[in-house]
Amino acid sequence: MVTLPCEHLWPRAATGSRLARTPRRPMSALTKIGEHVYWMSPGPPDRPSVCAVEGARRTLMLDAGSSRAHTRQFLEALAQEHVARPNAVVYTHSHWDHVLGGSELDGMVIAHALTAELLIELAARDWSDEGLDGRVAAGESSAQHAEHVKAELPSPRTVEVVPADIVFRESLDIELGGVTVGVRHVGGDHSADSCVMYVEPDRVLFLGDCLCDSSAGALTSELAFPLFDTILGFDAAIYVEGHHPSISSRADIESLNQKMRYAESVVREGSGIGVTDDEDTQSFLGAFRAGHVTDS
Ligand SMILES: [Zn+2]
Repeated sequence: MVTLPCEHLWPRAATGSRLARTPRRPMSALTKIGEHVYWMSPGPPDRPSVCAVEGARRTLMLDAGSSRAHTRQFLEALAQEHVARPNAVVYTHSHWDHVLGGSELDGMVIAHALTAELLIELAARDWSDEGLDGRVAAGESSAQHAEHVKAELPSPRTVEVVPADIVFRESLDIELGGVTVGVRHVGGDHSADSCVMYVEPDRVLFLGDCLCDSSAGALTSELAFPLFDTILGFDAAIYVEGHHPSISSRADIESLNQKMRYAESVVREGSGIGVTDDEDTQSFLGAFRAGHVTDS
């Protein structure tokens, strides 16, 4: 199993894309984005979005962050806002930057069956500098992946990967008291284990990295088209992506879907049109070209 770093995310750090309409937030600020939902934005080196959903009875964390330090920063920010500490965490997928902070929470870990298997693999991995460099040399990880791990977890590092306590296969509803988190497996090019979490009644959809391309920088119409259909099938108003510096509206995601389909058609038809300055479209063109090469 090849490590799937998140280096090829297309809409990150954009300047000319849809992000330009939203002022950039300070890195890793805690923001209340729904009646029950608190979001900490992504930050360097590869820290993803993490959320807490606070119900009358329980608080649930969505993804655990990249390290104990990252999770601690989030938990301290929640405490400052007088939010009850999360009792459990549910993972979008098994990539290191979303799960290695799980040990700091010391709560129940909820994961898809495939994610649970991959957590066991992560736990068995050699996380020393030599181990990380060896994986890069063997072509199993990118140099950027090793760099990010070294920056997030300075050497000598102890990596504790907490195994899953509760494992589901298709979907799971978690009742927190006045608010429900519906977890649904969606898969996709980025990772086969990708899940999303829909928070009701807040209408927040937590996407993790599911809309991103694969570790090889590829997207395929076979997986990306049905995935976007599934995502747009939720009646969500606010969308949280793993490494996107701002939250997105439904109009943003609909626009992204159109750009994605347009880019795919340009690549499939081999037409030379598709020349555009739009950063998202350019990223989609590159990813579908990579996916096309992989297919043939
Ligand atoms: Zn990922």
